[in-house]
Amino acid sequence: MIKAQIPEIKALLSSPKNIVIVPHRNPDGDAMGSTLGLYHYLKRYNHNVIVIAPNDYPDFLKWLPGDDTVLKFENQSTESKSLINNADLLFTLDFNAFHRVGHGMAEVLEASKATKIMIDHHQQPDDYAKYTYSDASMSSTCEMVYNFIEMLNDTDKIDASIATCLYVGIMTDTGSFRFRSTTSRTHQVIGNLINKGADNTQIHNNIYDTNSYSRLQLLGRALQNLKVIPELNTAYISLSQAELDEFNFKKGDTEGVVNYALSLKGIKLAVIFIESLQDQIIKISLRSKGDFSVNELSRAHFNGGGHTNAAGGRSETDMKSTIIKFISILPQYKQDLS
Ligand code: 5GP
Ligand code: MN
Repeated sequence: MIKAQIPEIKALLSSPKNIVIVPHRNPDGDAMGSTLGLYHYLKRYNHNVIVIAPNDYPDFLKWLPGDDTVLKFENQSTESKSLINNADLLFTLDFNAFHRVGHGMAEVLEASKATKIMIDHHQQPDDYAKYTYSDASMSSTCEMVYNFIEMLNDTDKIDASIATCLYVGIMTDTGSFRFRSTTSRTHQVIGNLINKGADNTQIHNNIYDTNSYSRLQLLGRALQNLKVIPELNTAYISLSQAELDEFNFKKGDTEGVVNYALSLKGIKLAVIFIESLQDQIIKISLRSKGDFSVNELSRAHFNGGGHTNAAGGRSETDMKSTIIKFISILPQYKQDLS
């Protein structure tokens, strides 16, 4: 989106509209923080606004202000479809292509006649939206929603609910303000959000200090499964469905586990493979340090994508063949990894 389009958007928002806001499937802190932050902002203008998540998300996000208003397309598809079909405006946040919301919902979004606005920080966005605010250098979609509100000259409208939601996504997508995408501007935005009422200590507790005993035990198993390929500065972890079941796995329990592999001294590439019998896939999360692009690796080999230093993907074969494939493609990246 160019600044020149802001007056048009301002005009669109000047009278009450039916607005639907959508995050990606398996929404994370940035996806829920940005959609709910925007929700609270648009509410202040008396729009008829709703967040529709493709599916459920982890409990550690369920305290966010406005969480109780969120619809889940997967369980509430009739109501969701009718709201999307009647929407004047459709905001898609924290994703760059319709397929990221999953089958079923993607087709409904595609068919929607609503004016579409994308706000997102992933590389290579599709061009389905009339207004695209895409910037892969941004720490998070939440930081972009802050910028969007600022471009609309409305930072004085940011209240504690908006500030709390946006703080969450910036915090989670920057690994608590340490990834390379964290800039002095990110910290300035965070400072402003604290001034508007975001309680940083409480937010950190709510997100990170709600472990169950079984989640920590699962982490223990994951760490025992950690393998290192020293000559390629690569480490990987696997978790089978049986192991997830053994530790009473709940959505969100494996969030951040891959970062332990990346924390090993000298490691440039870290990957976790997680079996999902329900989806009949191996879910893959990739992380890197420096210039090594896991976005490119995942796009090329694992049907996924994301950012330079954090990406996701999938494999439709079993765990053993997935890991064999992974190990077999690594030598082509030897120069970048060693
Ligand atoms: P995670 O490993 O936490 O699932 O995802 C890491 C990053 O990659 C997130 O920013 C996420 O949105 C993105 N990502 C995960 N899976 C995919 C995928 O299949 N395609 C694309 N384009 N991005 C993904
Ligand atoms: Mn994000």
